[in-house]
Amino acid sequence: MVQIIQDFIPKSNGNRPGNDMKPLYITVHNTANTAKGADAASHANFVKRSGTAVSWHFTVDDKVIYQHLPLNENGWHAGDGRGTGNMKSIGIEICENSDGNFEKAVENAQWLIRKLMTEQCIPLANVVPHKRWSGKQCPRKLLDRWDSFKAGIATAHTGKKATAKPVKATPVKNTSKKAYKLPSGILKVTKPLTKGESVKALQEALAALFFFPDKGAKNNGIDGIYGPKTANAVKRFQLMNGLKADGIYGPATKAKLEALMK
Ligand SMILES: [Zn+2]
Repeated sequence: MVQIIQDFIPKSNGNRPGNDMKPLYITVHNTANTAKGADAASHANFVKRSGTAVSWHFTVDDKVIYQHLPLNENGWHAGDGRGTGNMKSIGIEICENSDGNFEKAVENAQWLIRKLMTEQCIPLANVVPHKRWSGKQCPRKLLDRWDSFKAGIATAHTGKKATAKPVKATPVKNTSKKAYKLPSGILKVTKPLTKGESVKALQEALAALFFFPDKGAKNNGIDGIYGPKTANAVKRFQLMNGLKADGIYGPATKAKLEALMK
């Protein structure tokens, strides 16, 4: 987990529009500033200066995250005026300072996005590049690897603080490379409940991606039984991955799980 420092733009400052927002999207940017020292703290200072007429929610560098705006207020970062990008999305800038480790900053951003998705119920499909809103070539260092960037979000480790109520979980570590023998048929909650090793493999795969059948319960609810809690984990996985969220495990869900496990 990465430290998040809240350093809000003062309300008196014109950079803080103060419009109510219910975030539906997460918009990713690169700072396009390769100067030494152009890290998250320096952008926190930049965005607090009056008259810059730009603002966003988070700046992420290789060590820390600064939050500049509360999540229920909009910022000016998407270049689409009062469009969906500015009015309905959380803006995240990833630093490119030459004295920082860009890949680590990317990893930190993936962690943050995963956490925000969970907390704000934003599906992975709604994590978008700045380019989506205005056509700007931003995030300039991630556009040509956008799919792998998003795959990294899906498998990011969120840590204990990712959920509203922290629970003792035992995440399966470094299992993303493991091959799970996933069921080949269709699974849904039936009477009697479907049981077996293949259901267990499915549960383990879901848990490796942080969709626990029953987080905090014994073995996180991995019990080899396709009951309502496992169906719910499947549903959450489907929702976050742009699939029909019906809690029924089938070929599309299997394919997506396998793709993320590669
Ligand atoms: Zn941008």
